[in-house]
Amino acid sequence: MSYALGFTCAFAAALLAGLAVKFWLATRQIRHVARHRDAVPAVFAQTMTLSGHQKAADYTIAKVRFGLLEMAWGAALLLAWTLLGGLDLLNKVLLAWMGGGMAQQLALLAAFALIGGLLDLPFTLWQTFRLEERFGFNKMTFKLWLGDAVKGTLLGAVIGLPIAALILWLMGAAGTLWWFWAWAAWMGFNLLLMLVYPSFIAPLFNKFKPLDDAGLKARVTALMQRCGFAAKGLFVMDGSRRSAHANAYFTGFGASKRVVFYDTLLRQLNAGEVEAVLAHELGHFKHRHIVKRMVAMFALSLAGFALLGWVSGQSWFYAGLGVQPNMAAPNNALALLLFMLAVPVFSFFVAPLSARMSRKHEFEADAYAVAQTSGADLAAALLKLYQDNASTLTPDPVFVKFYYSHPPASERLARMGAA
Ligand SMILES: [Zn+2]
Repeated sequence: MSYALGFTCAFAAALLAGLAVKFWLATRQIRHVARHRDAVPAVFAQTMTLSGHQKAADYTIAKVRFGLLEMAWGAALLLAWTLLGGLDLLNKVLLAWMGGGMAQQLALLAAFALIGGLLDLPFTLWQTFRLEERFGFNKMTFKLWLGDAVKGTLLGAVIGLPIAALILWLMGAAGTLWWFWAWAAWMGFNLLLMLVYPSFIAPLFNKFKPLDDAGLKARVTALMQRCGFAAKGLFVMDGSRRSAHANAYFTGFGASKRVVFYDTLLRQLNAGEVEAVLAHELGHFKHRHIVKRMVAMFALSLAGFALLGWVSGQSWFYAGLGVQPNMAAPNNALALLLFMLAVPVFSFFVAPLSARMSRKHEFEADAYAVAQTSGADLAAALLKLYQDNASTLTPDPVFVKFYYSHPPASERLARMGAA
């Protein structure tokens, strides 16, 4: 058996196994949530209405069902791009039209991104205007959605094409260690993006106003001083323009950090609860979760680029995924695309490790918040957020282990109660 055929078999086997696991997990989650739909769990009997509980069950099940359709579509597209020859065809058409070279390679990446985006469009639209709409979460008009899509595409081109060109150039010009230099460029690019995001990118999509509620501002400022935390400003974002889901987050580095509250969060929670949510976010900083995630991302990316450096020089990698490498022109764009398509098929099986680390961090941040503010406020805030976001209180434990980045409400409250 040739290497290419062996790789095709490994790819197909991993894809099938991944689909089987995802399908099994989804049916478990649907059955578990449906079985517990008729009664609010005893611990939440005082705080959750039956209608709220049932809405959460229906929303959860609808999302999982939608996820199954998306999964099937995604797998069909993946096969069409790879083993059925879609990417090979696109590459050959562009080669015949433009000849080999940097322009052709950039065109291949751009065409792939555009075609992929268009093929996903029915799902994006259905999710926003059917699924989210049905449960009262969507606040977007079609006009706003279209404006976002146009802005997002232009931004992707303005930001994405230069970095893609730089990486393609390094792949061709930087010798056998090109993957190391490409990694360094990619990391620098990511850091730059994080730096400019709060001031230049986020304002393209949302309006940010300084927090003007004096009472809340005083509480929040006192909390941050108590925790030894400097931030450059407190902002309110008009999240309600798009969705009823609520959130709060930090952006920026060092002294230029800012705190952003969604207006939806401020509407749903009282001052004490907002303070508790912010204390939870501060907990992530105090425990260096953000730094740890970034270090992990840096290390994983380095391993990824090293792997790309190796497979991009192997003809079985292309042939095994349904593509004929061109002998007369560089194959770097093909290598990048095939790598991005193939890696998730294999990395899916280690996703639970990342989810597990994330859940551990959530517990730590909760414990920090309980120590700095009122545990009762944090518990009340969490329950309101779970309820307003229609997150189910009765997820399937195995589904949680695999996918959940945040522990279920019952586990978080139990830990807080014990602390
Ligand atoms: Zn958190």
